[in-house]
Amino acid sequence: MSSAAPTRTAVVESLMERFPGIPPEAVFKEDLLRGGLAFDPSALSGNEGGEVKPKSYFIFSFDHRTLPELGEAALNRPPEEIVLTGGPYGLRRTVVSVRVNPSSPYRVAPDDDGALALFLDGVKIADVGLPPMPEYYRHPLTNGKSVMEVAPTIQWGYLIYLTVFRVCQYFGAKEECQYCDINHNWRQHKAAGRPYTGVKPVDEVLEALEIIDRHDTARTSTAYTLTGGAVTSQVGGKDEADFYGQYARAIEERFPGRWIGKVVAQALPKEDVRRFHDYGIRIYHPNYEVWDRRLFELYCPGKERYIGRDEWHRRILDSAEVFGPRNVIPNFVAGVEMARPSGFLTVDEAIASTREGLRFFMSRGITPRFTTWCPEPTTPLGRENPDGAPLEYHLRLLEAYTATLEEYGLTAPPGYGPAGPGRAVFSVSSFMDALPPAPGE
Ligand code: SF4
Repeated sequence: MSSAAPTRTAVVESLMERFPGIPPEAVFKEDLLRGGLAFDPSALSGNEGGEVKPKSYFIFSFDHRTLPELGEAALNRPPEEIVLTGGPYGLRRTVVSVRVNPSSPYRVAPDDDGALALFLDGVKIADVGLPPMPEYYRHPLTNGKSVMEVAPTIQWGYLIYLTVFRVCQYFGAKEECQYCDINHNWRQHKAAGRPYTGVKPVDEVLEALEIIDRHDTARTSTAYTLTGGAVTSQVGGKDEADFYGQYARAIEERFPGRWIGKVVAQALPKEDVRRFHDYGIRIYHPNYEVWDRRLFELYCPGKERYIGRDEWHRRILDSAEVFGPRNVIPNFVAGVEMARPSGFLTVDEAIASTREGLRFFMSRGITPRFTTWCPEPTTPLGRENPDGAPLEYHLRLLEAYTATLEEYGLTAPPGYGPAGPGRAVFSVSSFMDALPPAPGE
């Protein structure tokens, strides 16, 4: 006797029943982030000439297929994000980063009235809003480059994402992190003939920011993130702290205090971290990627070889003395704990390990955060695990994260916009949607 596999709707609804403390907004957001969504051609953006803000490919591909396999979505970019509301689950406003997967059970398409909607297993589950093209994307730099290429914004315009170094010096199977497609993403955009600047000149970044500052009259843009690949030797004669720091220094000289400055970089020695701070950076993200020792060694071979897990963690703690623990926010990639063939076999074990890492940092006042793993197909872990981690893992992580924050008397980390369902704008995981709103908000 054989029984049909349950529909995705049945899986999601049974998890909603099991986890009544997780807002339904966060449940759908996690499922969309872990498994991606498909687009009807009419829901694509129209690229840079259209009325919808296109997906900028701000660092990784964050897609479930390579560009040549995306069909229409490769020619006519999908939107950067979508916003969900209403439907049978009564969703409050939920901003979700777009990860394209043509075979996802989730699909954005027009409903019977012609309005865009999100369908799951063919049934409408929410209204879909697309981000309008921001005025600053319509004004190119003097050299013709677009603001979307040099200084894209994400999180519904809250964050300017400055990937100033589009490749990583950890290169090849023995060094690249096993879930990361930064180098492949660079290659595929080059191969497609798209503009994709390897190292962004400081002047271009300043010019793009000037355009944003001029046209963002509602002052929605609130923070910038400086990031890119790891620098193990030098870029342009500069080590990692001076390379990324030079942008912060220039930005803060030109636009003092206009945005909250953040940097995502390796866990650097304290004197380098101090330089970041001196340059005007206010939030430091020395990402620890995955907590478990064995998995870190396997998944982050370059980081393990050049720095090592224990030293990485020591440096995170040291950096709290420079930035203050609230302003050190290391990221981890939620879900890779369960990737075959080496990850944990059960959700229980994966959550226990991840919680140990949360407690390690939160007991010291440091608030980690996470992005939901997107199993990109050109990465070793993505190839082996095209479906990513189970939704149950992601929901239990939200529970564990919220409970551990409360246990240590911490609140949502700074620089992420508002918390709470219906309010959050952070788009690559739902941790901000699942937290309660700050008092008074
Ligand atoms: S350090 Fe790892 S995660 Fe970061 S860009 Fe390089 S390969 Fe990717």
